[in-house]
Amino acid sequence: MSSNNSVMVFIQQDDAKVADVSIELLSKARDLADQLKTSVSGVLIGSGIKGEAEKLIQYGVDEVFIIEDTRLGDYTPMPYTKIMVEIIKKMKPQIVLYGATTTGRDVGPRVASNLKVGLTADCTSLEIGDYSSKEVDYSNILYQIRPAFGGNIVATIVSPEKKPQMATVREGVMKVGTPDSKYKGKITNFEVALSDSDFPSVVIKKIKEEKLVDLKGAQVIVSGGVGVGSKENFGLILKLAHTLGGEVGASRAAVDAGFVSKEHQVGQTGTTVRPKLYIACGISGSIQHRAGMDESARIIAINTDHEAPIFQISNYGIVGDLNDVIPKFIKAFKAKG
Ligand SMILES: Cc1cc2nc3c(=O)[nH]c(=O)nc-3n(C[C@H](O)[C@H](O)[C@H](O)COP(=O)(O)OP(=O)(O)OC[C@H]3O[C@@H](n4cnc5c(N)ncnc54)[C@H](O)[C@@H]3O)c2cc1C
Repeated sequence: MSSNNSVMVFIQQDDAKVADVSIELLSKARDLADQLKTSVSGVLIGSGIKGEAEKLIQYGVDEVFIIEDTRLGDYTPMPYTKIMVEIIKKMKPQIVLYGATTTGRDVGPRVASNLKVGLTADCTSLEIGDYSSKEVDYSNILYQIRPAFGGNIVATIVSPEKKPQMATVREGVMKVGTPDSKYKGKITNFEVALSDSDFPSVVIKKIKEEKLVDLKGAQVIVSGGVGVGSKENFGLILKLAHTLGGEVGASRAAVDAGFVSKEHQVGQTGTTVRPKLYIACGISGSIQHRAGMDESARIIAINTDHEAPIFQISNYGIVGDLNDVIPKFIKAFKAKG
């Protein structure tokens, strides 16, 4: 199948390792391409990346374009933009997706401005549908869906007049598809003439902060909100999380109140999570919080207010003071096991 008119994904690599968000996007691209009866392509730019390209095909990718050059090992805006623009002009994809990461948020707008096409930032959902405007009917348009106006509405944005339709997509919101090692796709070296003047900036040194919180990978998350009351009392949340072997989450209001650091935040402007068990303690369940956790397999909520919106999406609701409930929870769990 030709990559012309494909659903294309900008594949982000860091230290020659493909970013999780790119696998999520390739899986979503496969769904979209199936609906559009077209192919999925990926663009992988870097150095020493061929082995990574091979691993991508199992996610239903028909063609991975690789652009290898030792100078491309680290992301810098100018050459990456030039490559994306050239490949888009040549392969004419109908859709191009980028992760809403620091890299994707940098390269996506540069490519959009260069090609004079639209780009919807920070999408949380993508769908295919029809659209009518100014007496023109468009079919099979990309619905680019994202929270807007402070998260109070969910906006569906379309850019039907120009191709490609482009979007950045939040990390963790698209599900990774089941890999199929028998899937047949190809790897193509894409040639772009790059001179030294295409590299006006170079990375001199990289300082990596160790990731201490892994919300995305956690099977159990115990989250605390404003109802926890204080930074000191947040120790209860840590204790329950520790007892269950889980990770600690928080609402934004709890983070803003200084109970816990920002990397624990779950929600629209925090991390999107899908654990097997999510325990929300003293969290009201605002739309922005729910956006980041409502796909958890099981949700338990502990709240003094029986009308708290979190109960609407909970599998089990406990109306009560978390200061009473959590110690009982811990005691019961320890007694059991
Ligand atoms: C653009 C934008 C982005 C946002 N992004 C996020 C985001 O990513 N994540 C996020 O979480 N929020 C986000 N917010 C904030 C969001 O709107 C809410 O303000 C926030 O989620 C509320 O946090 P909370 O539930 O901890 O606090 P509250 O809404 O104040 O709820 C506290 C709850 O604790 C209960 N409670 C009180 N005492 C106890 C007790 N002793 N035991 C049990 N329950 C008790 C109360 O009944 C109440 O339901 C965003 C807002 C905006 C505008």
